[in-house]
Amino acid sequence: MQPGDDRPPGGRPDPLGNVPDAVYRLDPDGRFAYVNAAAEKMLGRTAEELIGRAAVEEFPALRGSLAQEQYQQVLEDGRSREFQYFYEPSSRWFEVRIFPDPAGAAVLFRDIDGRRRSDEERENQLRGLSAVLEALPSPTVLVGPDGRILSANGAWARSGVEVLPGPAWPGRPGEDYLTAMTRGLGARPHAELTEGLRELLSETSRSDGRSFSLDYSADSPRGTVWFHLRATRVDHGGRVVITHTDVTEQVRAREELEWKVRHDDLTGLPNRSRLLELTGEALAEAGRTDGALLMLDLDGFKTINDSLGHQIGDELLRQVAGRLSEEIRPGDTVARLGGDQFVVLAHGCDASEAAALAFRLQTVFALPFQVGAITVPLSASIGVAVARPEVTDAHHLLSDADAAMFAAKSSGRDRVHLFSPSLREAARWRLEVATRLRGDAIGELVVHYQPVVRLDTGRIDGVEALVRWQHPERGLLPPDTFLSVAEETGQIIPITRWLLRETTRKAAEWAAEGFRLRMSVNISARHFSAETLVRDVRVALQQSGLPADQLVLELTETSVAEDPTRAEDQLSVLRSFGVRVAIDDFGTGWSSLAQLFSLPIGTLKIDRSLLAAAERVAAGDTGAVLAAIVGLTRTLGIRSVAEGIETPEHLRMVRAAGCDLAQGWLLGHPMSADRLIDWVRQIQQAGGDVCALAEAGRAVPVSG
Ligand code: C2E
Ligand code: MG
Ligand code: MG
Repeated sequence: MQPGDDRPPGGRPDPLGNVPDAVYRLDPDGRFAYVNAAAEKMLGRTAEELIGRAAVEEFPALRGSLAQEQYQQVLEDGRSREFQYFYEPSSRWFEVRIFPDPAGAAVLFRDIDGRRRSDEERENQLRGLSAVLEALPSPTVLVGPDGRILSANGAWARSGVEVLPGPAWPGRPGEDYLTAMTRGLGARPHAELTEGLRELLSETSRSDGRSFSLDYSADSPRGTVWFHLRATRVDHGGRVVITHTDVTEQVRAREELEWKVRHDDLTGLPNRSRLLELTGEALAEAGRTDGALLMLDLDGFKTINDSLGHQIGDELLRQVAGRLSEEIRPGDTVARLGGDQFVVLAHGCDASEAAALAFRLQTVFALPFQVGAITVPLSASIGVAVARPEVTDAHHLLSDADAAMFAAKSSGRDRVHLFSPSLREAARWRLEVATRLRGDAIGELVVHYQPVVRLDTGRIDGVEALVRWQHPERGLLPPDTFLSVAEETGQIIPITRWLLRETTRKAAEWAAEGFRLRMSVNISARHFSAETLVRDVRVALQQSGLPADQLVLELTETSVAEDPTRAEDQLSVLRSFGVRVAIDDFGTGWSSLAQLFSLPIGTLKIDRSLLAAAERVAAGDTGAVLAAIVGLTRTLGIRSVAEGIETPEHLRMVRAAGCDLAQGWLLGHPMSADRLIDWVRQIQQAGGDVCALAEAGRAVPVSG
């Protein structure tokens, strides 16, 4: 029988003659009963040679083999078998199927050596890849060209437990990867993943190493987690390795950083840049002109910080932040600009509502703050700026609020001030002053001198130096138009240094001419913190040759109260040279008397507001308050000066109260140096008693 011949011996057509699989039949004794053409070819014998022969004799390698064993079992239990079988003599793999039939069994077999070997190779490769996958710390899968998971590492298997609840996650080998991923991924990233993977898999040859990546987040029992997915095609066969790296920590760190950039460390409130962003958004909303910024500046916070320590200061700021946050409406924002400045961004309110909010914010300070055992009362100055159609820029609105806050602060503690365009004018002026003072404006400053008179004899005791600015366009400017700016910018220190030199030189010059006038110079609080006061005074005295006891330094009580220890140290040194120290504007501050009188001071200047108050309270009376203060200074050996004597009645009052010295328009206006000397001469010629002359309406007030 020839291969392909479908006619068995006997002439009957052979139905299996053309079947490509090898087929033979064995009788119950294991003898060949039929062999088809394909089997003849594969066995290398003709049907004639085999029919009637026992298989194990013709092919001895079968004896005791898996094939024989299986055959026996088929005969025994009548059930078909299918197995792969390695036939030693030809060193090839075969796939064998044995079907029982009434006269023995039919055997179908096919050479699968090529396929089996490439399968093995692929499996080996897969094992190698799996080992590599296993070594990767991130959940990783190998996906076949059909999109099924071929292999996955331990991290992937564990990721389900870590990342998502439920037994279905993650996908197991054999499962469709994209189907598995629907369980962890939102619809959008899943669509992206599907598209990316489709492209990777669709590319045929020469596309190894191509990859795509995707960042996605998923909800998990430990909160939101972030993953960076990277899919890389690894071979021509179209297999793709997909790693899922947990980047939650990096994302959190980045978010934290972003958060930090926009928030204040101490209070956790939005910071300046975030506030500007939010304000910008509020202003940008079409047609919105109904928002407001309220800027709060804590009163005297520096003093508190310096005296109680920064830790307590920080805690206070946190408490203020907390109380303000509780007071605002949902949707509004409290931000901290830094230092002791807070800003509230209020949406949907007009000027009167914004003002009402400001007053409500003031009540936040009604109760004192408690840090440990310390109770601290606080108040705030509040500036309010309401959005207007012409204000489109957040910086603009914030600077309006700032100008309003500045105005609130200047009018005293615990005030609310609404922005008006004239405040912007004031702010512009402050900027001009700051710029010019840094330039050459110091050369345009002039000093005027106001006489200080003894109340017992009416004689001139000395003068107070008061600075003015001879502005080239605006004329002679009083100190309150520029000194606060100089204080803010620190220019007050070089100005005072110049003043000390100028006034001590003048006093020495006058003394040489026979006019001994004690010189009083106003010193700012800034000078204490700069710590150059002692040196500046010493240099001025040395250069001028003025005896130290001819110089009086005037300090306001608030400036001393800002840092009493530092003030005391410096004042003690100055006192040791013989320089006198006066407390100015007494009665306008709030410092404790005990603290004030513990300082080495020689003179107390009673502010004219106290005089006016005494006058109002007890018209005709000498003023019990005034008398009490003067009594106290007497006891402590401190000289008292009454400021702001404008009328003979004032003069009478302060005399009756027992003041030592007085100063005021009734007795003499501030005058330029030249006019002062003329004035002194005139007074001397008229007898020298300024008080008597003034009471008689004959003083010689020379102004300007
Ligand atoms: P001060 O030291 O209390 O000076 C007294 C102020 O009262 C002066 O105002 C003076 O002109 C004014 N004055 C004097 N007599 C009367 C009066 O009878 N009635 C009224 N209503 N006012 C009177 P001025 O010159 O405008 O100075 C204002 C403040 O500016 C000063 O108050 C002082 O605190 C500050 N200042 C002036 N010059 C200097 C300076 O050179 N350095 C520093 N740091 N501050 C200065
Ligand atoms: Mg003064
Ligand atoms: Mg004063």
